[in-house]
Amino acid sequence: MSANDLVLGTHELPRRAGEMKKTRREIDAPADLGVEMIGVPEGSPIALDLVLQSAGEGILVTGTATARLLGSCVRCLASVAYDDSFTIDELYFYPGREAEEDDLYVVDEQIDLDPALREAVVLELPINPLCRPDCLGLCPICGRNRNDDPRHSHEDAPTDARWEALKALNLD
Ligand SMILES: [Zn+2]
Ligand SMILES: [Zn+2]
Repeated sequence: MSANDLVLGTHELPRRAGEMKKTRREIDAPADLGVEMIGVPEGSPIALDLVLQSAGEGILVTGTATARLLGSCVRCLASVAYDDSFTIDELYFYPGREAEEDDLYVVDEQIDLDPALREAVVLELPINPLCRPDCLGLCPICGRNRNDDPRHSHEDAPTDARWEALKALNLD
């Protein structure tokens, strides 16, 4: 496996509008496919299930990329892992068109899926992944994981002098 697994040849696809070619392949994830708290580990498998379609001024690539995500819960830092599918939908223009920013092109009758994969995956990833929707997070005082001990509290052992001052004012 190499980075070239992300490059698809298109010479078998006639340039007549409507012609299509299906392709399924498993690739190794490229580096840095993710956001800060979660992503697809480099080298882990990604299943691509794609349709390449001649579409007038270029080749439309649609389909899905399925991968295992690995990350950390933003509240308690426990590891988070699950499979997800991402929708790929990109038009690669044939050469000879006036280039605009972010345009993708068919180069030497090949399509480089790397930018399409990145856009599909990175835009869909949660910025704040959670180990479970109601994760209780870490105790702000001692750092203990409150999911392990939901009733954990420090009410009996105040450690902050300001609390003592407030308590002194609360005469009963
Ligand atoms: Zn959590
Ligand atoms: Zn605590």
